[in-house]
Amino acid sequence: MKQVDYIVVGLGVAATAFIKYLLEHQHSFVVINQDFHRASTVAAGLYNPVVLKRFSLVWDARQQLEKMHELFLWYEQFFDKKFIDEMPVFRIFNDEQEQKTWHKKATTHHELVPFLSTDFQQLKIYNDIKDPYGSGEVLATGRIDLRLLIPTLEQYLRQKENLLQEKFRYEDLQIAPNSISYQNLQAKHVIFCEGYHILSNPYFRKLPIIGVKGEVLTIRTEAKLPKAVVKGKEFLFPLSSDEYFVGATYDRDCLDYEVTESAKTELLSGIGKVVDSSFMVLHQQASIRPTVKDRRPIIGGHPTYKNLYCFNGMGTRGTMLAPKMAEILYLHIEKGQPIDNQSDIARFYDEYFD
Ligand SMILES: Cc1cc2nc3c(=O)[nH]c(=O)nc-3n(C[C@H](O)[C@H](O)[C@H](O)COP(=O)(O)OP(=O)(O)OC[C@H]3O[C@@H](n4cnc5c(N)ncnc54)[C@H](O)[C@@H]3O)c2cc1C
Repeated sequence: MKQVDYIVVGLGVAATAFIKYLLEHQHSFVVINQDFHRASTVAAGLYNPVVLKRFSLVWDARQQLEKMHELFLWYEQFFDKKFIDEMPVFRIFNDEQEQKTWHKKATTHHELVPFLSTDFQQLKIYNDIKDPYGSGEVLATGRIDLRLLIPTLEQYLRQKENLLQEKFRYEDLQIAPNSISYQNLQAKHVIFCEGYHILSNPYFRKLPIIGVKGEVLTIRTEAKLPKAVVKGKEFLFPLSSDEYFVGATYDRDCLDYEVTESAKTELLSGIGKVVDSSFMVLHQQASIRPTVKDRRPIIGGHPTYKNLYCFNGMGTRGTMLAPKMAEILYLHIEKGQPIDNQSDIARFYDEYFD
């Protein structure tokens, strides 16, 4: 039997955030991951503290941003690679009323003042953008290149023989009060970071995780666009000089991983409203966001099997949320610190566990 402190199941942004603490504090661990339509590497990886529909602040935005920068900077130093790409988000206004609402919030809602610019941009200097009512710039925004970070981490773990690239078999888990065995491994704790696949996990599958399917495109266009996220109904941002990432659809009904013509049409029509050019679709992908009925993450231990932990419910904002949740869960396990009521799995003990 090989003894380890932790087994981590999954390798998306949730596991990546948690593993930072295991590396930093030199815990022994094994990651078991089979990449099946992983949401974190289909996603854009954008971070943005403002809800762009209503111009309101994301829950706990300041603290999440701070922890996010801390964690991904740590990975930048660890791998000597760049993963944080600071980029403005320009929200294109649909009409004058939206412009007025933005201005009012940017000047009178003190919690939004640091994040909403009152200097309205005219993206018309980019001839191919249509924004007759101007655009508002959200500050402190950008993208984490999870499409680079996660494979980089994956390769590192493989080299260190810390990674099993296979499906976790729940039937091979044997649980004793102070340790767990899984095949030839003995661990103190198992952390399940399975994203939407949690619904196959016999220990946590009853939790109220609601899937929201999303599709994204990579396109080529000759339009001249800023190095920024341009957000109309859909959003796009540059991946290279003529390739752009376009996202994303939200579908709560059809929860499979197939790409669809209807999503492609919806995305192209959305960007067609703000960019006056032609587009060539290079690539289309789909995955499922693990959202929660009360829109809060779910972290913490199983009510009966105390050394099995859930790290899930990253929803539509895993990039910003996962780093702070990882720190909370790590300190909870190692130092006994409490988990805040809004994120704690304990809020579902009565309703969703036998
Ligand atoms: C189209 C789309 C666009 C998005 N855009 C953004 C965005 O711009 N910004 C943002 O913050 N968020 C975005 N999100 C949301 C974000 O991607 C998710 O919140 C986040 O990726 C969830 O991360 P996770 O680690 O929980 O799950 P995942 O990334 O899905 O990772 C789970 C991993 O566990 C593996 N796994 C599961 N079960 C097992 C098992 N039994 N054995 C072995 N391996 C297993 C899976 O295969 C996968 O590799 C987007 C999501 C989608 C779908």
